[in-house]
Amino acid sequence: MSIIVRYHQLLQEIAVCAKKAQRSPENITLLAVSKKQTIESIECLAAQGQRDFAESYLQEALTKINHLKRFDINWHFIGKIQSNKTQAIATHFSWVHSLDRLNIALRLSQQRPTTLKPLNVCIQVNLQEESQKGGIPISDCEQLAFEIRKLPNINLRGLMALPKKHDPSPLQTFSKLNQHFSSLKKRIPLDTLSMGMSQDFEEAIQAGSHVVRIGEGLFGPRDAGIAT
Ligand SMILES: *Cc1c(COP(=O)(O)O)cnc(C)c1O
Repeated sequence: MSIIVRYHQLLQEIAVCAKKAQRSPENITLLAVSKKQTIESIECLAAQGQRDFAESYLQEALTKINHLKRFDINWHFIGKIQSNKTQAIATHFSWVHSLDRLNIALRLSQQRPTTLKPLNVCIQVNLQEESQKGGIPISDCEQLAFEIRKLPNINLRGLMALPKKHDPSPLQTFSKLNQHFSSLKKRIPLDTLSMGMSQDFEEAIQAGSHVVRIGEGLFGPRDAGIAT
């Protein structure tokens, strides 16, 4: 199937999921996860009107961003953030979904060019306490959120989670994140729950997701040969 056909089919599937959940499809953004996918396929989707793309590896992302300047793309960073990468992330991205440390937030705020709008961020929450994964425990989330709120060049938008690979009950996991999001929202203005990937976006939408991050379910298998 061509990527263009698959793209329009996926938008349809998202709309159907939204309807089932009695939600408006306009409140759900498809974030095309283009890591390890070719520049040509990103170009193809950008030409169809897709605006939001996500990358996990900085070097790979910078090459793509540079090649695709003529499109009006919002680039989202969703990978692990090392402190020596914050300058480039603050300069070239409009969103970061994988923020989980105050010192990284401080650097991003300091390094965000003042000619750009504040960097939109989501705090990554590690719901299932998997030690090898990024994200903070839910119990630390509120404190970090209050600290991030004080930073001038960062706009805290919400929470992100990446559940276990073979989570037997994704709906439950996503609903748990939504509960925390809702209670945090009573004290801090937030509007973005970034949850759901190729395998579980339907459950994520049912549980209230605003951004579904879809890679292989849109582009097809990732190419390990693409340099990172
Ligand atoms: C790779 C990745 C995705 C996309 O995963 P697919 O299974 O290809 O849809 C989403 N979110 C994050 C944080 C990722 O690293």
